[in-house]
Amino acid sequence: MIKALALFSGGLDSILATRLVMAQGVAVEALQFVTPFFNDHLLADPAAHADRILALYGIKVEVVDISAGYLQLLHRPAHGFGRHFNPCIDCKILMLNQARQMLAARGASFLISGEVLGQRPMSQRLDTLNVISRDSATRDLLLRPLSARLLPESEAERRGWVDRSRLLAFRGRSRAPQLALAAAMGIREIPAPAGGCILADPILSRRIAAIYQSESAMPAAAITTGDIRTLLVGRQFRLPEGGWLVVGRNEEDNLRLLDCAGDDDAVLAMPDWAGPVALLKKAASIYPSPAGLERDLHRAAALVVRYGRRLPAGMAGREVACRLGGERRLLFARPMAEAVYRGWKLA
Ligand code: SF4
Repeated sequence: MIKALALFSGGLDSILATRLVMAQGVAVEALQFVTPFFNDHLLADPAAHADRILALYGIKVEVVDISAGYLQLLHRPAHGFGRHFNPCIDCKILMLNQARQMLAARGASFLISGEVLGQRPMSQRLDTLNVISRDSATRDLLLRPLSARLLPESEAERRGWVDRSRLLAFRGRSRAPQLALAAAMGIREIPAPAGGCILADPILSRRIAAIYQSESAMPAAAITTGDIRTLLVGRQFRLPEGGWLVVGRNEEDNLRLLDCAGDDDAVLAMPDWAGPVALLKKAASIYPSPAGLERDLHRAAALVVRYGRRLPAGMAGREVACRLGGERRLLFARPMAEAVYRGWKLA
């Protein structure tokens, strides 16, 4: 039996594309790629997700973590960024490359994607689709079933593995044809329209860009998956000595920050007084001088007091516990005035 691998985003187009090819007797395994920027939550329980997709859509899906390659890609995507910090063309090239490299091990002969010609301004124009298949070396291997009849024949059609006449000629932004097809296939649970990629989010993408492009003490080359997860929590600051400080906004943030804390992060919080947890990221490793670290730690402590429960009249400040490298000490800090730290906030 001929087998194919499908790029599966979980959106309706990828479901329909996969099902269209399955309906022609091809065994399809779907690959759902994960990075800290999209689908990250699936890593908590990939098996439960696979069960759900199989039950809802009859599709066998595997969650594949491509974070490492993706963090590198963001440094300099060959085809640039979209409206925000979203490198959509290179993102698709990376995923197709990854899927192509998995073909032999899975005994699969071709690839499927749910792209629709003209659906998105940048990444789904005809010339861009060509660039994506060219640069991922999948020009002949890749079948785009929803728009196949508007595109050159792929190997799967030429060899008769799939019948081109039963593929589609969708074009443009309207979702009406997809919804009609879903109804005809008996698909009742329609996923929400695409979204959920943090790199395309106007606010959160600015935070990611700020870390990648900033002159902070943390070298961009050292950014890890854990850093990106931390970047999406709480209030974010770049301190004057180059430190990166994250301050929780609520109990949920505080717990997440404690969970994210690495061995070289400084963790700050007030004992016996309501207030945030703060992380000074990589405090043990990025400061060129102990004096610079010390100044940023005191600033961090003053921000912890600032965002804590209001101090009663007559109380100038509070002690803040600071844990770093297995040592714990107390720093006395007064609440910092907003005029001092306003310019340190990351987007
Ligand atoms: S929106 Fe995000 S996940 Fe989608 S193609 Fe662009 S960068 Fe990739």
